[in-house]
Amino acid sequence: MFNYFSDLAAKQLDGGTLTREEALAILRSTDDQLLDVVSAAARLRRAHFANTVKVNYLVNLKSGLCPEDCTYCSQRLGSAAQILKYTWLKPEEAAEQAATGIRAGASRVCLVASGKGPTDRDVDRVASMVEGLKDEHPQVEVCACLGILKDGQADRLKSAGVDAYNHNLNTSESNYADICTTHEYADRVRTVEHAKGAGLSPCSGLIVGMGESDDELVDAVFALRDLDADSIPVNFLMPFEGTPLEGTWLLTPAHCLRILALVRFASPDTELRMAGGREMHLRSLQPLALQVANSLFLGDYLTSEGQAAKADLEMIADSGFVVLGADGAAAAAGAEYDGGAAASASEPAAAVVDDNDPASVPVTIRRRGAGTRLAPNA
Ligand code: SF4
Repeated sequence: MFNYFSDLAAKQLDGGTLTREEALAILRSTDDQLLDVVSAAARLRRAHFANTVKVNYLVNLKSGLCPEDCTYCSQRLGSAAQILKYTWLKPEEAAEQAATGIRAGASRVCLVASGKGPTDRDVDRVASMVEGLKDEHPQVEVCACLGILKDGQADRLKSAGVDAYNHNLNTSESNYADICTTHEYADRVRTVEHAKGAGLSPCSGLIVGMGESDDELVDAVFALRDLDADSIPVNFLMPFEGTPLEGTWLLTPAHCLRILALVRFASPDTELRMAGGREMHLRSLQPLALQVANSLFLGDYLTSEGQAAKADLEMIADSGFVVLGADGAAAAAGAEYDGGAAASASEPAAAVVDDNDPASVPVTIRRRGAGTRLAPNA
C-alpha cells in the first residue's frame, strides 16, 4: 500500500536529497500519520546508527554574565533568570565534573563557556584542561563550545586534542535578527567553517519553538545540511523566566517528533541529538524520539536541570538500545522494515499554540554540579 513516508525513507536510503515540499509534508503530517513518520525516520536511524545511543555530557565551564543578547538564553545580557553565575572553573573542578559524566557512560564531554567568544588566553586555558582530560580519558571525545572563534583559535584547540566544536545556527538566517542583535548569523556560519577548516568535527544545531515558521525551520535544517555538520543537536526552547521568551510555549510532543524526523530525513547519516528541553517538550514521547535521534545529553544542562541520568539510561535500555562504546553496542545497521500504510500528507496539522497549557511548567534552575559543591546529576 502507498506510504508516502516509507517511500521517502527508501529514497533517502538510496542517497536522495530531501526537497522543501517533502520537508513541509513531514512538518505538517497529521497526528494519525505520526507513527508512519517516526517509523520511516527510524529506518534511517537504524541504517546508520543501528541500536546505539551516543551519550554526551555537558560541563559548564563559565556560567552567565554574557554581554550578548540572545533572547532564548538565560545567560544573556540583562537576564533576570536566577541561574548560577560563575567565572571559569578551575581545571581540577572541570576534570571532576567531566569524570562524573564519563563514569556514567558518556563518550563525549562538551566543555561550554558563556560569552561572545574566547580570548586567546581563554583558549589556552581550555586547551590545557583538554590536555589533562585526554591524558586521563584518552578514549573520550571532547567537544568545545566557546562561541565565535577568531583566526588561529580552532587550530590551537585542535592541537590540544579537542575533537569537535559546537556552534549552533539555532534558527534560519531570515529569523536571526529576531533572536539576537549583538552578532549575526554569518558570524555563526563562519565559526563552524573555521572549526571544520581546522579539522574539528563540526557540531551545529537548532533551538526550536521560538516562533519560527515552518519555512524558516526548513531553511535552518537545510542550512545545517549544507554546512555538513557531523552532529546536530536539536534544542527545544526552555522559556526561562526573566528572559524575553519567558512564557513561550509553542511546541507539542508530537510536533517535536516531527521536527526530529525532519532533521533525520534531511541529514540521515548525521548524529542527531535530542538536546535541551526534551523532558518538558517531548514528555512521555521521549522513548519514541529515541527511535529517530541517536544521541542525547545525560543529566543536567548548562543552567537548568534535566531528568535523572538514571532515568535516561533506563529509557535507553528499555527501548532496546545500547550506549555507544558500551559492551554490546552493535556496529551493524539494523534491518529495514516496511513502515506500513499511511494516509496522504496533504492535510497540514496546525502546531498547537497554547500558553495556558497546564503542562507548561517553569524551567527548573540547575543548583548542583559545576559551580556548586553538590554532586552533579550523572
Ligand atoms: S547563547 Fe551564548 S552568546 Fe548568546 S547570550 Fe547565551 S551565552 Fe551569550
